Amino acid sequence: MNLNLNWIEFTAVFSVMFLLHTFGITFGYHRLLSHRSFKCIKPLEYFFVLCGYLAFEGSPIWWATIHRAHHRHHDTPLDPHSPRNGILYAHFGWLGEKRYPDHIDPITQSQDLIKDPIYRLLDGGDDLRRGHHISFATGFAFRALLWAVFGWQVALASLLAGLLVMQTPLWLNVVCHLRQFGYRSFATTDDSVNCWWVAALTMGEGWHNNHHAFPGSPRMGARWFEVDPTWMLIAACKKLGWVTVANVPEKLMSGRACKGSSVKDDRGLVIAQNIAAAAAELKKPALSGSR
Ligand SMILES: [Zn+2]
Ligand SMILES: [Zn+2]
Repeated sequence: MNLNLNWIEFTAVFSVMFLLHTFGITFGYHRLLSHRSFKCIKPLEYFFVLCGYLAFEGSPIWWATIHRAHHRHHDTPLDPHSPRNGILYAHFGWLGEKRYPDHIDPITQSQDLIKDPIYRLLDGGDDLRRGHHISFATGFAFRALLWAVFGWQVALASLLAGLLVMQTPLWLNVVCHLRQFGYRSFATTDDSVNCWWVAALTMGEGWHNNHHAFPGSPRMGARWFEVDPTWMLIAACKKLGWVTVANVPEKLMSGRACKGSSVKDDRGLVIAQNIAAAAAELKKPALSGSR
C-alpha cells in the first residue's frame, strides 16, 4: 500500500465531501425535513438527506423531532439542548439520552417523517442509541466501501470531512444561543444570536436569530453581508424546477423588525415566564410515563 499522501487529491475530496455533508444537514435535515420550509422532489430530498446521514447525523426522524422541540421550547427546561441547562450538556451531553423525554413524541410531532419507509428504516424507535449505532455503522461502512474502490486516501478524506461536519450543528446549538458570540436583529423570546463564523462554517445556518424569528423561512441571511449559501442552493434548485418555495417573509427581508446589534431587548421577562411555564409542565404528573 502506497502511504504517500497526494495533498491535492486529499484536499479536493475533503472539500467536496465537506460541502455535500454540510448541505445534507442544512438543506436536507434542517430546512427541508425539520421545518418544511420548501417542497422538493423526492430523489433530491433523499440525496441530500443521505449526504447528512453519512456525516453521522443519526436518524432523520430523531433529528427533526428534537429540532422541532428546540424551536417549540427554546431556552426553557423543556428545550433538548439549551445552554441555559448546562453548556456541556447543550454541546454533546444530550446525545447520550437513551429515550425521548416525556414531552417529546415523534409519533405525534413528526408524523410526516414516520410515514416515510426509508426514514423509518434508519430510525431506532424509542431506543435512541440504536438509531445512533445504525448511523455510525452505515457511516463507517461507506468509508470502507470508498477504501475498497478508491483507496485509503479518499476514504480518509471523506471520514475526516464527515466527522468535522458532524461537529458543526453541535457547536451551533451552543454558540448561537450565547449572547456574547453574536448580535440580535430580531427581539425573539429566546437567546438566539447571529454569528458570522458559524454561518461561514455551516453554509448560512449561523444567522440563527433570524431563523428563530422566522423558522418557516427557507432563507436565513437577510442583510447584505449575511451570506446564505444554503438559500442560494435552494434558489438554484428552484430555477431547475426541483424545488417549490413559498415566499420568503417580507419582514425578514425588509428588516422592519431589525435594529442591528442595539436591538432593544425586553425578552428577560418573557424568557423568565417561559421557563416558569416549562418547569410547571415538567412537574405535571400527567406527563410522566405518557408519551
Ligand atoms: Zn436555536
Ligand atoms: Zn431550525
